Amino acid sequence: MATEDKLQRSLFDEVMVPCYAPMDIIPVRGQGSRLWDQQQREYIDFAGGIAVSCLGHCHPRMVAALTEQAQQLWHLSNVMTNEPALRLADKLTQLTFADKVFFANSGAEANEAALKLARRYAVDNFSAEKDQIIAFNHGFHGRTFFTVTVGGQSSYSDGFGPKPQAVTHIPYNDVAAIEALIGDKTCAVMMEPLQGEGGVISPSLEFVERVRQLCDQHQALLIFDEVQTGNGRTGDLFAYQGLGVTPDILTTAKSLGGGFPVAAMLTTASLASHLKVGTHGSTYGGNPLACAVAEAVVDEISQPAVLAGVKQRELWFREALTQINSRYPIFSEIRGKGLLLGAVLTPEWQGRARDILVAAGNEGLMVLVAGTDVVRFTPSLVIEKNDIDEGMQRLEAAIATLYNYHC
Ligand SMILES: *Cc1c(COP(=O)(O)O)cnc(C)c1O
Repeated sequence: MATEDKLQRSLFDEVMVPCYAPMDIIPVRGQGSRLWDQQQREYIDFAGGIAVSCLGHCHPRMVAALTEQAQQLWHLSNVMTNEPALRLADKLTQLTFADKVFFANSGAEANEAALKLARRYAVDNFSAEKDQIIAFNHGFHGRTFFTVTVGGQSSYSDGFGPKPQAVTHIPYNDVAAIEALIGDKTCAVMMEPLQGEGGVISPSLEFVERVRQLCDQHQALLIFDEVQTGNGRTGDLFAYQGLGVTPDILTTAKSLGGGFPVAAMLTTASLASHLKVGTHGSTYGGNPLACAVAEAVVDEISQPAVLAGVKQRELWFREALTQINSRYPIFSEIRGKGLLLGAVLTPEWQGRARDILVAAGNEGLMVLVAGTDVVRFTPSLVIEKNDIDEGMQRLEAAIATLYNYHC
């Protein structure tokens, strides 16, 4: 058998660990917000590789940064620093509250660093008893054992033996619950400033402000997981800037590399001082290729016109989804912010988000789900108007097929 003939979805089941259930489609090429599969079928991309491909596929500025760096230097390890990492860290500190940056390769790793820093800070400044981490139901923070335990879905962390201790979950947006739980034993509160995987759930401003106050009152650190919300996704460079509530530690990944693996933990100088030489590290963290690409992404995304464009595109998405819903009423609400949007299914359609994802795929459109009741949209932040219009036509066709069959 020729090698190409073997490269089908069925080979996945033969040679891959079965922790994913990928679609049948195997895309081989992407440009902007369009993808093409092995049969040259074209797809419009409203998924962006789960809020990653923030400048679409093969953006010229990213391709240039990657290929230029690929001719210069690929890797050193943290025995030495490198120019792209220094430039990126300098930019991130200028653009945010942070003074210091730790680079990692994934959201989970950035969060792991944040949680370890919070615990170390409490041990250094207070006592080992100040170890409680408060997190939220339906939160998602990655798949390392610590981060998945802090995540708010125990089904993801069960079945792997003893879990990291002193992690407590409460409902998101519940001021009374955190007031009741937080205390002087609280080391950190970890939250997404808009829950992504958990169903695209915005926080109330009152809630976020109160969490900040309570953290200050109890000398607990506030960690914002901006792995999904960061890098322009909500229309601000980081979601905390739109909320006007500043965390002590911020983590980001996904759109930071726009498709190249890179992540960062951002914090203040005084907190950063607790991660002394030898306390934490990563072989690939701050890799020159990753940082060169991320620098190009940050340069592009941080432009006011690009951020304003995200807010404009949010309106286009909301309008189009509302129109589809007026003809095929299956959504009870469009929620989220910027280009992290969720269309919530009505009670009658509950549990069918994946059916819509599959039907959209058949029409040549990539969408995402967030749980079983929410269709999620995380497209490129610079997706063209005509891609949105055509994608929405395909979405309507997919929904019409399901709707007419259903009714
Ligand atoms: C995706 C995600 C993560 C995990 O990122 P990985 O790169 O998959 O480790 C963590 N937190 C949030 C909010 C995410 O959306």
